[in-house]
Amino acid sequence: MTQLSKENQLSKNVLNKINKKSTLLPGEVALVGSGPGDAELLTIRALRFIEQADVAIYDRLVSDEIMALLPQDCERYYVGKEQAKHCVPQEKINQLLVQYAQQGRKVLRLKGGDPFIFGRGGEEAEFLLQHGISCHLCPGITAASGCTTYAGIPLTHRGVAQGCTFITGHMQNDGQLNLPWQSLSCSSQTVVFYMGINTLASITEQLIKHGRDANTPAALIRKGTQPDQQIFRGNIASLADLVVKHKITPPTLIVIGDVVNQLTDTTLTKPGFLDAKNYQEQVLLTAKVG
Ligand code: SAH
Repeated sequence: MTQLSKENQLSKNVLNKINKKSTLLPGEVALVGSGPGDAELLTIRALRFIEQADVAIYDRLVSDEIMALLPQDCERYYVGKEQAKHCVPQEKINQLLVQYAQQGRKVLRLKGGDPFIFGRGGEEAEFLLQHGISCHLCPGITAASGCTTYAGIPLTHRGVAQGCTFITGHMQNDGQLNLPWQSLSCSSQTVVFYMGINTLASITEQLIKHGRDANTPAALIRKGTQPDQQIFRGNIASLADLVVKHKITPPTLIVIGDVVNQLTDTTLTKPGFLDAKNYQEQVLLTAKVG
């Protein structure tokens, strides 16, 4: 048996040991988080719903790699949104879910990250229930967790960050970004902004104004966990320039806090992999320079 087929056999054996099977019945909806992109970050429960779906209603943030796992005959319906450019309004998405379920289909509502973290999953579940449709809930790894880990950034670290906050950088309808700036500026925590790339200049300005040190390490992670993941490191004061210089577009996560430089970035040789060889070389180099 080749190494690969041995591994596949092992995974199958493990999967079979998990007796509880999540079953998606006709007329039901599975509200599933697909994580930040890498298909290996899917949960087993998510995979089981994906396997059973006969129609998938999916967002822009669901990666191609994950879409490729859908059954061949599964109908695909794209309802992705670009910032400020809603392809399909939320009300229409809600109605679509109900319509397909009422047709007796096994409906997979597939979302990037976690459906209940900046994903409007709560609204969709509520609408389904109001229309008498039952809904399976399946969490996904949210971008803040998946992208920082794959970038080698621990969200909390003893003595460095006692906690972390996930917050939206998306402007409210009145064009304002009303956030609890005072608490976000507290230095002992990591702050992760979702949807903040277009409001970045205002975010960094407010943090500095409310007392967060302008030299605090900060990073931008674009397409985190995916093969073309990009990481840009700087500090609060330099982030806005990085966006202009590198023409950074969504989906990008903003990470603020001392944890950004906790592990050396030279050891991160691919998404989610720290190379000990590079670490040793760097230690030697630092010793020589010192
Ligand atoms: N429900 C999702 C978040 C949707 S909001 C979750 O739990 O992750 C959309 C925002 O999430 C994007 O603007 C970006 O800030 C962030 N995001 C999602 N996936 C990402 C990825 N792979 N890389 C970087 N940012 C990502």
